[in-house]
Amino acid sequence: NSYYNDYNHEIWAMKVSDNVEEEEDEPSVFYMAEHHAREPISLEVNMYVLNHIISNYGSDPTITDEVNNKQIWFMPLVNPNGHKIVTDEVDLWWRKNIRDNNENGSINFGGGDGVDPNRNYAWNWGGEGSSGNTNSETYRGPSAFSEPEIQAMRDMLGSHHFVTGITYHSYSELVLFPFGYANNIQAPDHDALEDLANEMAFTIPGQSGGYYDPMPSYELYPASGTTDDYAYGEHGVFSFTIELGTEFIPPASQIEGICENNLEAALILLTRVNKKALTGHITDAESGDPVVAEIYIDGIDNTGEFRKPYKSDLLFGRYYRLLQIGSYDVTFSALDYETQTINNVSISQLQQTVLNVELEPILMVPVTGQVTDGYTGVPLAQAHLTLSSDPDNLVYSDNSGYFSFPAVYEGTYIVHAEAENYST
Ligand SMILES: [Zn+2]
Repeated sequence: NSYYNDYNHEIWAMKVSDNVEEEEDEPSVFYMAEHHAREPISLEVNMYVLNHIISNYGSDPTITDEVNNKQIWFMPLVNPNGHKIVTDEVDLWWRKNIRDNNENGSINFGGGDGVDPNRNYAWNWGGEGSSGNTNSETYRGPSAFSEPEIQAMRDMLGSHHFVTGITYHSYSELVLFPFGYANNIQAPDHDALEDLANEMAFTIPGQSGGYYDPMPSYELYPASGTTDDYAYGEHGVFSFTIELGTEFIPPASQIEGICENNLEAALILLTRVNKKALTGHITDAESGDPVVAEIYIDGIDNTGEFRKPYKSDLLFGRYYRLLQIGSYDVTFSALDYETQTINNVSISQLQQTVLNVELEPILMVPVTGQVTDGYTGVPLAQAHLTLSSDPDNLVYSDNSGYFSFPAVYEGTYIVHAEAENYST
């Protein structure tokens, strides 16, 4: 077969916002779909949400407000090459991308080729629930981010300030939240993640009554190298997998219903940052410039499994933390700035809490002086001096007795001076 000649599709990302050409000081939200080729219902739902938002802009005040104040990204077809195998009906149950694992120049439909894109992200890549066997449906690829599809998603996630996201799959009628890379692991933001998963799930009716089930990802089965674990672990994004419907490719008669049923959850995700959230700008108290600082919340960031610390962004100094109602002690820290802790920050049900923080730069000061004879006042050359901040760095006084240390942060230090025939 000559499939590789035909399989060179672009991966599209579509942005819905006002001023789409600009990266604005607004939270970004993503909707991804079809990492797995045999799950085209995910593409349908993604496009349905996109269509709803653009169709109602200007008429529905909530949608209009969301579009104006957010940057909404749609990546509806993460795996376009695999998608073509399915829509051409070459292999309806193709799951992976089309990496030519055995390098024979053609796609082996019976197995052997392809990487599972949702095992290729660099969060606990190579762990449980992924396979090193190229024949496996969950083959993780030769290295983390080896696949162009997932390099593209990595670059998207790293280029915008995402706060929430959904990646659609099929099937099982579930709303999954991170982490998922091993059994019984808990995310530091577990409670807030679970609340949002619950809130979304209970708006999505199932095919046979009831609603979608919310659960931590590992409860379905542990899987490593997934979108959600990476987006959350690396960037702190509240990232969810929604497993649509009750089969990989639902009958045509169900498509419209599955799309409609999933709309409200998608909109709940979109508006999540508008309430029960802490946000603001972190700036340099002297210059007013944005500062990339860590935002540490006691009782959250010191719990659960490791994820990277939340940081304000480079462009605006903006940060977002999605929380639950309550009172929190929040610490802001950055290299070369004085750390600030603000206690009892209140988070409310109905709106954001805005907390702008100016960090005081820690000044570097020179340390200079002169060494003299204690009786005569005569300058002493070649005295040995050290400063307690860096006792290995030996400095000598010059012929006039003068010495200087490299600049240090403001503070209290001990100077140690020695000279021949003098007491230390
Ligand atoms: Zn899937």
